Amino acid sequence: MRIVRFTTGDEPAYGVLTGELDEYGQPDEDARIVALAGDPLYVGIKLLEQEHEVTDVRLLAPVLPRSKVVAIGKNYAAHAAEMASDVPEEPLMFLKPNTSVIGPGDTVIYPPQTQELHYEGELAVVIGRICRDVPAEQATDVIHGYTIANDVTARDLQRKDVQFTRSKGFDTFCPLGPWIETDLDPHAFSEGRKVQTFLNGDVVQDGTTKDMVFDIPTLIAHISSVMTLLPGDVILTGTPEGVGPMQVGDEVEVAIEGLGTLTNKVGRR
Ligand code: MG
Repeated sequence: MRIVRFTTGDEPAYGVLTGELDEYGQPDEDARIVALAGDPLYVGIKLLEQEHEVTDVRLLAPVLPRSKVVAIGKNYAAHAAEMASDVPEEPLMFLKPNTSVIGPGDTVIYPPQTQELHYEGELAVVIGRICRDVPAEQATDVIHGYTIANDVTARDLQRKDVQFTRSKGFDTFCPLGPWIETDLDPHAFSEGRKVQTFLNGDVVQDGTTKDMVFDIPTLIAHISSVMTLLPGDVILTGTPEGVGPMQVGDEVEVAIEGLGTLTNKVGRR
């Protein structure tokens, strides 16, 4: 099931996207959005008798993390190598504030404090229930679903600050969407799903989730041994090799096989 959050101009609402995705990961012409009563994270799936054409709504970030986005650094060996570092011995965690989240189609704002704004296309995991100390074998029980993220990074500030708070934490630095797919399990990603990033239509990252150093259950076990995870918290699972700069006016798309495509533009405030 694909869960969307959308607006028709009024209050944001949740819905289920029906139909299939085309070869570009876009909803096909039969797709509809069936409205839901409330946030399915908290009230489950309650379908309303209200449908919308996909073209009649604006999709929003499919989840607003109540407390945090936990991101994992250097979780693909080839990316660690391009950053001139080794693969960490255990998952390398940092936080992005929930105020960094924007939705599909929203603008990533190029801050005046950086000269080196990078894209990082990533698979995102949405947590479905409050949990801590989750054994890896039970990680599937706490997953609500999967979406796509761009872990936008001010690379020069990352090098300068050592701490990642500023370089990863600006408003608009965490595009999420376009929807949450709830019907996959972590094995689908261990077996391999393409993660690709396109800059103005040119492929710049071309990886597969099977190259993740630490798989999703291992990440959930590791993170939840440190901090309680809440419904709606999001885990970014790391980026493949090929990170690079974005400029004002660029369009960046992150596509994950079977999930869809997240598209954003870069602009100035
Ligand atoms: Mg990243």
